[in-house]
Amino acid sequence: MARSIIAIANQKGGVGKTTTAINLGAALALDGHNTLLIDLDPQGNASTGLGVEVGQRHKTVYDLLAGPESLKECLVETDIPNLSLVPATSDLSSADVDLAQTKERTRLLRRKLEEGEDDSIVLIDCPPALGLLTVNAMVAADAVLVPLQAEFYALEGLSQLLSTVKKVRQSGNPDLRVNGVLLTMSDYRNNLSQQVEADARATLGELVFTTVIPRNVRVSEAPSFAQPVLLYDPTSKGSGAYRQFAAEFAARLKLVKEEA
Ligand code: ADP
Ligand code: MG
Repeated sequence: MARSIIAIANQKGGVGKTTTAINLGAALALDGHNTLLIDLDPQGNASTGLGVEVGQRHKTVYDLLAGPESLKECLVETDIPNLSLVPATSDLSSADVDLAQTKERTRLLRRKLEEGEDDSIVLIDCPPALGLLTVNAMVAADAVLVPLQAEFYALEGLSQLLSTVKKVRQSGNPDLRVNGVLLTMSDYRNNLSQQVEADARATLGELVFTTVIPRNVRVSEAPSFAQPVLLYDPTSKGSGAYRQFAAEFAARLKLVKEEA
């Protein structure tokens, strides 16, 4: 399989971007895909959630964007075979300002990813904003994966996100596509979750993945043990859902490749 670069984006915070990045990354890696997760959020939650402590983050995604460092120089291996990480620290929070005057500032990540091509899947965990960092991810990516929390107003922010995707297509990455919307934190006992799912499927059709991630306390506990839920509690509902999603996601990627 050729390399696929996926930006996991939604300008809303707390919708499951990082959780999806960690657990999709872990599931793909455990299935034997050579996977790289790029933590592009100054909060560094993906780095922490994979057990890469601040003291181990010698080179970060900030160096990758702003410095001469190559992708290889910024990689950290995780405890999961086949899963490596480019970590983030709070340094990244000034990137928008620091890079504002840089030439071709939206193509910085793309450039660095073009230098090395040995991972099959690259997942980029975006910050909760549609600023320079998320735009860098979209310019570098083949596709955008949108986690959508099954709650009221979930669909409202989507048009803004899609208009950013459109702008990126027009200004430097014409092949960028949205390859799916993943419903997260769904509570099957709650009518509202069901309503949001029905609305999303009616509005977005096949863009919405069949797999829905349920709200599951084991998923929310896992980060404090610095582990994906897949390792923290492999038999939990959350693990099962993320494994199923990873299979669906991988199948959809291949489909996209064949059509292209
Ligand atoms: P984002 O990266 O979009 O800000 P996170 O992935 O950090 O969102 O998720 C926000 C919070 O919700 C975190 O505390 C996370 O542990 C929790 N969470 C995410 N997915 C689930 C789930 N399926 N069940 C329960 N809690 C979840
Ligand atoms: Mg996050």
